[in-house]
Amino acid sequence: MYHDLFRDASFWAFLFSIDRDLAKTAREQACPCGGRLHSAKYPRKPRGGSKNLPESYGSRLSFCCDRDGCRKRVTPRSVRFLGRKVYLAAVVVLVAAMRQGPSPARVRELSQLFGADRQTIARWRTFWEEQFPQTQFWKLARGRLVPRVSVEVLPLALVNAYLGRGDPCQDWDDLLQFLSPITTSGGMAIEVSR
Ligand SMILES: [Zn+2]
Repeated sequence: MYHDLFRDASFWAFLFSIDRDLAKTAREQACPCGGRLHSAKYPRKPRGGSKNLPESYGSRLSFCCDRDGCRKRVTPRSVRFLGRKVYLAAVVVLVAAMRQGPSPARVRELSQLFGADRQTIARWRTFWEEQFPQTQFWKLARGRLVPRVSVEVLPLALVNAYLGRGDPCQDWDDLLQFLSPITTSGGMAIEVSR
């Protein structure tokens, strides 16, 4: 199963290396005011991964403009952290997907595997079924997916579309990079229809 990979510290190290690349790109763009971006990480205590997560998981990469009067924050996209969710992005995707499909995993089993309680798993379901489909990101991005993914089976449809194609690390990289625009502030912005 896909979650075997989560016990492997090298998988989490791999995802960190992607976040570092995303951060490097964001930093090179500098602040719109012309100021330089300095490292200003957010402390994090993520859950749901392997027991020996790399130390790099104690923070989310972020930057702050060095000019007085600006001090703008720039937080790059991430394949590790899904906005402010405590659980790692890959876990929020996979656990919710494992609740879907013809033979859904039991909540008790998922709680044992990932440490998320019943209420947390229920919140993820609401996130995928109600909040995520309303985002501007999804309304634009779903058209790029072939075959077109149905909202009723999110995130299982995404898991089916991306995972199990070949190299598991590469598959997760693609899936999490696809979702990464929603991991920044404003990324979960909801399009208000008139
Ligand atoms: Zn600035």
